[in-house]
Amino acid sequence: MFNLILFGPPGSGKGTQSEKLIAKYGLKHLSTGDLLRSEIANQTPLGLEAKKIMDKGQLVPDEVVIGMISSALDNNPKAKGFLFDGFPRTSAQAEALDKLLELKNTGIAAMLALEVTEEELVKRLLKRGETSGRSDDTNETVIRARITEYRNKTAVVADYYAQFDKVVAVKGEGTVDDIFGALCKEIDDRM
Ligand code: ADP
Repeated sequence: MFNLILFGPPGSGKGTQSEKLIAKYGLKHLSTGDLLRSEIANQTPLGLEAKKIMDKGQLVPDEVVIGMISSALDNNPKAKGFLFDGFPRTSAQAEALDKLLELKNTGIAAMLALEVTEEELVKRLLKRGETSGRSDDTNETVIRARITEYRNKTAVVADYYAQFDKVVAVKGEGTVDDIFGALCKEIDDRM
């Protein structure tokens, strides 16, 4: 298996690049944001609880997202590999992911970290909010809260993978195709 993490702050382009990467490399896309939004759309108890937290721009509890990822790994036994998007977002999630992958005799090949300035992030998210239907994209206070959560809890996840020399920084500004090209080059070097 070949497993990648696509990392970066909210609005850094993880969703856009993930779509292109899974098509090219045949990986299974696991986005905790998408999994949570699907729970919300289906009005499950988990979704209803998660929505309140997501609408404040905060992170949902680790055990909730770790449980979702664990089920998704079990439900895809034939996958060639996984592309994790929006996960892990805390050190506890990173440690849990390593254990889950170890049980399947696999691990993370690399963490691709998209780098984008904060002003550009806010601009992109407000723009996405005009059409995405995502309530967490329409309010600048919520957007800034998400970026603060990222700085306080998620940025350290890169330090976790840096210990194992797995972090690859990629500039997340420029055209979608340029960024995709830069990501592919890094992946091809590691495959
Ligand atoms: P973005 O990267 O634009 O913030 P996501 O779709 O990845 O969008 O996440 C939306 C929201 O879902 C987050 O603000 C958070 O509340 C919740 N969420 C997604 N993934 C996680 C995670 N791994 N841990 C905790 N909360 C998460």
